[in-house]
Amino acid sequence: MRKVNKIYSNGEFITPHGTEVFTLINPATNNVIGELTLADETDTRVAIAAAKDAFRLFSLTTVQQRIQYLEKLRDAVQNREQDFIDTMIEEYGGTYRFSTLSNRYTGSWFDSMIETLRHFEFEKTINTSRVRLQPVGVVGIITPWNASNSSVCSKVATAIAAGCTVVIKPSELSGLQTQVLMEAFHDAGLPKGVINVVTGLGTVVGTELTDNPDVAKISFTGSTAVGKLIAKKAADSMKRVTLELGGKSPNIILDDADLAQAVPMAVYGAYMNNGQACIAPTRLLVPESKLEEVNAIAKAVAGQIVVGPPLQERTDVGPMVSVRQFEKVQGYIESGLQEGATLLTGGTGKPAGLEAGNFVKPTIFTNVRNDMRIAREEIFGPVLAIIPYKTDEEAIAIANDTPYGLAAYISTSNPDRAQYVAERIDAGRVCINGFSHDPMVPFGGFKQSGIGREYGAFGLEEYLETKAILK
Ligand code: NAD
Repeated sequence: MRKVNKIYSNGEFITPHGTEVFTLINPATNNVIGELTLADETDTRVAIAAAKDAFRLFSLTTVQQRIQYLEKLRDAVQNREQDFIDTMIEEYGGTYRFSTLSNRYTGSWFDSMIETLRHFEFEKTINTSRVRLQPVGVVGIITPWNASNSSVCSKVATAIAAGCTVVIKPSELSGLQTQVLMEAFHDAGLPKGVINVVTGLGTVVGTELTDNPDVAKISFTGSTAVGKLIAKKAADSMKRVTLELGGKSPNIILDDADLAQAVPMAVYGAYMNNGQACIAPTRLLVPESKLEEVNAIAKAVAGQIVVGPPLQERTDVGPMVSVRQFEKVQGYIESGLQEGATLLTGGTGKPAGLEAGNFVKPTIFTNVRNDMRIAREEIFGPVLAIIPYKTDEEAIAIANDTPYGLAAYISTSNPDRAQYVAERIDAGRVCINGFSHDPMVPFGGFKQSGIGREYGAFGLEEYLETKAILK
C-alpha cells in the first residue's frame, strides 16, 4: 500500500500539518491501494505565502525565461508519462486506451502555451498610452478527479506563461496521480514557491484558497454546484475566477447525415472516459423519421462495447470512480425508467462478472423527452439519451433548452447546414462530424457550464490584468 504523506510547498516536500488520512481505493476492485494525508488550512496558508513571495520575482520574468520554464515542465512531465498512465488506470479506473491517449498529450499543454507566448502581445499602444497586460498574482488551481493530470497541467502551463505563481489542490480521489505530478514539478526545477501542491479536501483546502485574500484568482474545474459556491465566496475579495463546469452536451444528427458513421461515433462519444467526461455528447438528437434506424444501430453498437477491467487493452468502459458515483448513476437510470423513457439497452445493476468494482451497464434510453431528468442533469456515467425532433429549428431549440452550454456536436453531409446550426447553438465549443481537439482554440462554457475560457491566447488573457499608462 502506498502512502502519499507529503505536500509540495516552497520547493520542498514537507510533512503536512494536517493529519487526517483519506483511503485511496481501486475502483475496479474496491481494494484499498493507498493512503493520502490530507493537508489543512495551515498548510494551505503556508503554500499561499510561498507563492506570494515567489510572485515578486516571477512576475518580472521575461517571455523568454518563461518559455524555458515551460520547456522544463514539459520535459519533466513527459518523463513521467508511464507513471501517469499507470496511476490513472489504477486509481481512477481510466481505460488503458483512454489513459494512454490522454497522458500522451500531457506535455502538449506546455507546448501550446510556448506557442501562444511566441505570438502574444503583452503590451500595446492605444493613441499615446501604453496598455500593459501583467500577471494577476497568486492563482489557486482546483481540479476534479476525471482528468486530473491534464486539468492541472493545462492550468499550470497557462499560469506560468502569464508569470503567475500557483497553489494547486487536486481532487482527494487523485492522490497517487498527485504524487507523480508533485515529483515531476519538482524535477522541472522552477524557482521555489512558484508551484505548490496541497493535497486535501475541497471544504478545507479549497475553501481556504477561495477565502484567502492573497490569492488573486481561482481557476476551477469541477461541478457546477461547487463552481457557484466558489464564485460567491470569491466575490468577497473580488478574486478573478475561471470556472470550467458541468455539461449536458447535445449531439445533433441532421437528416442528411451518414448514420452508419454518425451513430457509432455518438455512442462511443457518450461513453468516452467511462462516461465521466464534461464534454460527453449525452443527448443524441435525431430526426423523428430516422428514429427506428438510429435505435437499431445504437443498440448494435452498444452490444459491442466492452465493459471490463481498465487495464485490459480492449476495454471501452471501465468502472465509475467511486461507489458514490456508481450509486448516483444508478439513481439516474432508475429515474429514466420511472419517467417513462424507453430502455434500449443496459439498465440498473452491474454487468455479470464485474460485481466487485463500480461497473455500470452501458445504457441507452430512447424516446426521451428533454424535460426528463436524464436529459436535463449531468449524469457523469455511460448513459445516453436519444431525443427525437421534427425540424432543424426544433433540434436547435431542444439543444439550447438546457442550463448548460459546454459543448455541442453536429453530424451532416452539408457543410453549410453545419455552420448554420453551429452558429445557433449556445455552447462554448461546437464540433462538426467528429470529436476534434485543438489546445490553441478557446475552451469553456456558456450559461451554467462556466465563466471564462481556457487554452491558447484566450486562456492566457484570463491570468492577466490590464493596465493603461497614460501620459
Ligand atoms: P467537484 O466539484 O465535486 O470537485 C472538484 C474539485 O473541487 C475537487 O478538487 C474538490 O475537492 C473541490 N471542492 C469541493 N468542494 C469545494 C469547496 N467547497 N470549495 C473549494 N473546492 C471544493 O467535481 P468532481 O466530482 O471532482 O468532478 C466532476 C465534475 O467536474 C463534473 O460536474 C464535470 O462536468 C466537471 N468537469 C468539468 C470540466 C470542464 O472543463 N468544464 C472538466 C472536467 C470535469
